[in-house]
Amino acid sequence: MIEHKANTLPSEAFAVVDFPRSLLEFQRRFPDDAACAAYLAETRWPEGFVCPECGHGKAWRLDTKAWTYECSRCHRQTSVRAGTVMHGSKLSLTVWFWAAYLMATHSNGMSARQLWRQLGLGSYKSAWLLAAKMAIKPASYKMLIAPEAAG
Ligand SMILES: [Zn+2]
Repeated sequence: MIEHKANTLPSEAFAVVDFPRSLLEFQRRFPDDAACAAYLAETRWPEGFVCPECGHGKAWRLDTKAWTYECSRCHRQTSVRAGTVMHGSKLSLTVWFWAAYLMATHSNGMSARQLWRQLGLGSYKSAWLLAAKMAIKPASYKMLIAPEAAG
């Protein structure tokens, strides 16, 4: 039986118990954009979709815009990204979730350069924007994967 080494640096420890505890668990929970979107929708509308404009409960998913609902009464379009740090970003939900996971599990945070390498992003600017947006509101990225922990 292999014992885990106790001399792990604090920055490498997973400090927050509500988060997925391992990369494997995280990957099982959020394997693709659909899983991430479903999670966001469930977190936001636990009782089913509610239009933020008129409060109507019926909407359809648009084919032309990813993970966007259109209210069947007032026709307002609402993305699962709306009101989150991901709003207006072209990066996939999966990338955001991975970035959130990495930043949340490294107590000293992650530099843009580290995110860039770890996530294999094409442009360094994307990584920089990602890190900058999350740095402004730490709670908002923690909310991505653990709403109850974000307070
Ligand atoms: Zn509406």
